[in-house]
Amino acid sequence: MISLHGLTKVFPGGVRALDGIDLTVKDGEFFALLGPSGCGKTTLLRAIAGLETPTSGNIRINDTDVTALPPGDRDVAMVFQDYAIFPHMDVTANIAYPLRIKKIPRAQRTAKATEVAARLSLTELLHRRPAELSGGQQQRVALARAIACHPTAFLFDEPLSNLDARLRLEARTFLKRLQRELAVTTVFVTHDQAEALALADRIAVMSHGRMIQVGTPAEIFHRPATTFVASFIGSTPMNLLPAHVTPAGLRVAGATLPAPAGLTPGDQITYGVRPEYMDLSLTERPDAFPGTISVLENLGTHTLVTLESPDALIQLVVPEGEEPPLGTRAWGAPRRALIYRDHTLLTP
Ligand code: ATP
Repeated sequence: MISLHGLTKVFPGGVRALDGIDLTVKDGEFFALLGPSGCGKTTLLRAIAGLETPTSGNIRINDTDVTALPPGDRDVAMVFQDYAIFPHMDVTANIAYPLRIKKIPRAQRTAKATEVAARLSLTELLHRRPAELSGGQQQRVALARAIACHPTAFLFDEPLSNLDARLRLEARTFLKRLQRELAVTTVFVTHDQAEALALADRIAVMSHGRMIQVGTPAEIFHRPATTFVASFIGSTPMNLLPAHVTPAGLRVAGATLPAPAGLTPGDQITYGVRPEYMDLSLTERPDAFPGTISVLENLGTHTLVTLESPDALIQLVVPEGEEPPLGTRAWGAPRRALIYRDHTLLTP
């Protein structure tokens, strides 16, 4: 278990990279830190590893306060973006390196390295050097090295980011299976929302050194707590439409919808609807957003349709082949929406 209390890091020069973080990562959990560039993900991971000294707050690993302990005494293994494997050592020596530092006898470390290598399908490559390996293989060597020392926790900083798209998907599935098998608490940094949704048991969405929302992938996807989280999560971004309540109902993007409970005429809100939760109609409906189809994007099995009107730009998804031609007059009917006031989700 890793717990952080009021963790703050102010860099010389005044950048507040972490701003009072409170978080508990449960034993065996696969936890993703997600957020845009510069939000503090790497700083948080480095603080847990002991590579960054917090300005205030504390870090506990399995009920021991490790805030003042050097990295080597924290029993965590960090895997970096660029793998940091040694070019002059072969695969066996790279995997066994942390055991050498711990002064484990040679025969024992070679046996351990061989065992871990087999688990990661690296047996054929034990005598190769990093320059003779593909990016995916190098990544597996870095993982094997982290696993070999049996840490209390793994800390991964975008370990898949150097892989091409296909390899990245493969590595993702592999990493998830491996983490399940080993059941080691893992904190994983990514700026890729799809990766976080696919891998994590829980996700923390960060912005400007703070945690905006912590939850399961389903909670974060279906009930984003703020418009920032809503716009960040989902492979096609959520439509976030300005709306206002009138005596006749909710006016939004040229449509009049029933006003949600708890709102009164005059209220200004943001109406959020995912492209996947809208139907396309070719006949006029008062409860649907009117527009003209201005862009069609092929998503493989589906097509992303952009509906343009003087009031709004709306995107919705239809099964591939069912998209009307460009220029067609059409209506987008929301099936499931979220209401935000002052950028914060209103709970119905
Ligand atoms: P990325 O996804 O781009 O890696 P990140 O979310 O990991 O970003 P951090 O690297 O943690 O972000 O940086 C958080 C903030 O702290 C940024 O504004 C960054 O410029 C700043 N920062 C990071 N390291 C230092 C440092 N050593 N000195 C001063 N400022 C720093």
